[in-house]
Amino acid sequence: MNKDFDAIIIGAGIIGCSTAFELSKKGLKTLNLDKLPASGNGSTSNSCAVIRVHYSTLDGTAVAYESYQYWNEWEKYLSVKDPQGMAKFLKRGIMVFKSEANEDLKKVRSNMDALGIKYEDLDVAGIKEKYPLLDNTSYFPPRKPEDDQFGIANPDPLIGAIYYPEGGFVSDPILSTHNVQVAAEAHGAKFLFKSKVVGILNNEGRVQGVLLEDGTTVQAPVVVNASGPHSFVINRMAGVEEGMKIKTRALRHEVVHVPAPEGFDYEMRGCPSSDSDIGAYWRPEVGNHILSGSEDPECDSKEWIEDPDEFNRNLTDQARAQACRLALRIPELRIPNQIQGVVDLYDVTDDWIPIYDKSDLPGFYLAIGTSGNQYKNAPVVGKMMAELITQCENGKDHDQDPIVFHLGRMDRDIDMKFYSRLREINQESSFSVLG
Ligand SMILES: Cc1cc2nc3c(=O)[nH]c(=O)nc-3n(C[C@H](O)[C@H](O)[C@H](O)COP(=O)(O)OP(=O)(O)OC[C@H]3O[C@@H](n4cnc5c(N)ncnc54)[C@H](O)[C@@H]3O)c2cc1C
Repeated sequence: MNKDFDAIIIGAGIIGCSTAFELSKKGLKTLNLDKLPASGNGSTSNSCAVIRVHYSTLDGTAVAYESYQYWNEWEKYLSVKDPQGMAKFLKRGIMVFKSEANEDLKKVRSNMDALGIKYEDLDVAGIKEKYPLLDNTSYFPPRKPEDDQFGIANPDPLIGAIYYPEGGFVSDPILSTHNVQVAAEAHGAKFLFKSKVVGILNNEGRVQGVLLEDGTTVQAPVVVNASGPHSFVINRMAGVEEGMKIKTRALRHEVVHVPAPEGFDYEMRGCPSSDSDIGAYWRPEVGNHILSGSEDPECDSKEWIEDPDEFNRNLTDQARAQACRLALRIPELRIPNQIQGVVDLYDVTDDWIPIYDKSDLPGFYLAIGTSGNQYKNAPVVGKMMAELITQCENGKDHDQDPIVFHLGRMDRDIDMKFYSRLREINQESSFSVLG
């Protein structure tokens, strides 16, 4: 077969760029194609970029903890200097509140214990010491402000939280993605922007390349779908969606930016926090702001999007609801009349756990279904995809005999059937952005 590249990667978000970096390190000639003008301009651009390790599953926790170690040594990991500057990992620690929704974090704590991840178990006084602004009233379940019961305290307050130091957030998700692009280019990777894929070429039951909107074809024996919230569109083009037990859909999400209470340097002293009692997560943002998203409680209706190129990018009442919920926990919060924030799409699977897998079309691979929580895992995802692709291309039958991926920093194995498109729905999942 003629080939222009060893592998084409559709998408130059954090997942596509990380896959290119690791494949090109293995000596493959890669090409990332993206319809947007630059890397990281898709849903990655609006990521809150929180790097946390608390997940509902043990494997999810292990992958996040391994990935954290790469963020923590970002420049060393990429071994390159981006002329645009290097993104910063701000290691502020993470606070997670115990609540009825997470069974006082029993599962999370047992996952962290099993992996030796250190955390402090805080009572209410401990929370206040770290964060004097926080109120410890319980309001569970989370509600919309228009609900009569909104803001009515439960008889018992919150009992505590955990705080772990090995977490934080990345200063600039677009820049971090550009950093990975530059690192991949240093190993020979190529990138083509403003290039929309409109067809997947297939020759005698094997992928052969892609067709671009301008009519050009690019040939390669491997094509990776890393198209984020467009993943189902690309899967349909390739004709592989039918063969997947776990599917992906695009879900609209709003993130609000509100000023921190006056007189408190939240930007420097705050840490990312997760609070299932009010169904919210938040983190410091530049300008002494707080940025907050929903943890998908039942009261927040889900807006599934049919066409990821056509959705409402304006904030709605949902943004105000999120700000009001945050104000229950931070009573001195200032909520402006004109709330600011961002709107973007998650690429969500049926169980909110991603798909890192082959497909039924030989040569066509899936790095999709990141479900609002995989920015942090991109360094390990790149490595897993590179391992998966090289082993499958060398004849490994991954569906029958799944690849075991070794997490080098933790010296621990992950059975990649955890990420299979053919898995049963993982009932251990939180079925939310928490993964
Ligand atoms: C609001 C929000 C907050 C989040 N917060 C966090 C967080 O705090 N922590 C965390 O870990 N994760 C978070 N996430 C999730 C994380 O950002 C995503 O999992 C991750 O960025 C997905 O990266 P990606 O490369 O798969 O997708 P994208 O960045 O969307 O990249 C896909 C690319 O494919 C391109 N593409 C699509 N179709 C085509 C086509 N036909 N031809 C060519 N190119 C195409 C797009 O232009 C796009 O650039 C958040 C996500 C959102 C939306």
